[in-house]
Amino acid sequence: MSVRPPIAMLAELTHRCPLSCPYCSNPLELARIDAELDTDTWSRVFREAAELGVLQLHLSGGEPASRRDLTELVRAAREAGLYTNLITSGIGLTERRLRELDEAGLDHIQLSLQGTDAAMADRIGGYKGGYDRKMQVAGWIGEIGFPLTLNAVLHRQNLHQLPRALEMAVEMGARRIEVATVQFHGWALMNRDALMPTREQAREADRIVTEARQGLKGTLVIDYVPADYHSDYPKRCMGGWGTTGLNVAPDGLVLPCHAAQTIPHLTFDNVRDRPLAEIWYEGAAFNAYRGTEWMAEPCRSCERKLKDFGGCRCQAMAVVGDAAATDPVCVKSPHHGALQVQAEAFAKGSEDALTWRAAPKRAAEPAE
Ligand code: SF4
Ligand code: SF4
Repeated sequence: MSVRPPIAMLAELTHRCPLSCPYCSNPLELARIDAELDTDTWSRVFREAAELGVLQLHLSGGEPASRRDLTELVRAAREAGLYTNLITSGIGLTERRLRELDEAGLDHIQLSLQGTDAAMADRIGGYKGGYDRKMQVAGWIGEIGFPLTLNAVLHRQNLHQLPRALEMAVEMGARRIEVATVQFHGWALMNRDALMPTREQAREADRIVTEARQGLKGTLVIDYVPADYHSDYPKRCMGGWGTTGLNVAPDGLVLPCHAAQTIPHLTFDNVRDRPLAEIWYEGAAFNAYRGTEWMAEPCRSCERKLKDFGGCRCQAMAVVGDAAATDPVCVKSPHHGALQVQAEAFAKGSEDALTWRAAPKRAAEPAE
């Protein structure tokens, strides 16, 4: 197949974060603080990304505001010609810092929402006072005039807050909201008992989003990631493996998606050792599941294979133990029935059985 350049790059600047959400998509083994790429290396990677054809740069983490050089990094990305989007919980951003980011050319902010009130948001984020600080940051974002997307991460414990999250997006002047039902990777995978929505909640969320898309047409764009364990077909993960986007981890590893390190037989190149373009076109991890050649049945002969590319490789690995298997969310997967039964069982689990995300270590500290 002919490989096109990526459109978007997710730069995970650090795995540090003041919050500790139990659904964090960062890997269980977080990149050590001492291993993070420095300012010059990130700046070089941004230039390489632009030369490769990347248009949009998503600055993420962890919490990207934990990087003291964030403004410098935004400036470097803009100088490279990239559209810059900051994905943040808001914690660590002051009005002064936001104004500096504005001056450096930051184009857009995506603010995460752990809950629509302090009790929910602070419990889920594991950070007391976080909600109030986030609301303050949202006010500054509005005053400065950054285009804003609200990113509401929903699960069994807060799905009832979806209508309020939509209202808040409108009140904050957001142009877009991402209603993202938790995807079970990273830390979320060990919290399925506490976070799995019920089937009824999943259907109710579908209904609310459909109605809101009508009611808020022209006011708010709603991107929706449904509860996929309760779906019949998988999502087109990452727009297709090695097709439209790439992730660079804090330590420079280049990943086809944020959870790709959970596939144990893959090896990943590092931007410290190899140019980004070479990694994209020739890297073993990118070519492992690119296109359709790797597929087995039922995907191989399925009429939807160019629509969803067989779903998520990391989910196939996590649930079935085979990264080349059909995503078990799919009705055509032999594991679909078992997954549905599992989902029902998880949805009856204890809401108190939460494991919050840990903090990354320094080199001197022993790994757990
Ligand atoms: S999901 Fe939560 S803990 Fe993870 S990076 Fe985002 S704000 Fe931090
Ligand atoms: S069989 Fe494979 S390609 Fe077909 S719908 Fe299911 S996951 Fe998609």
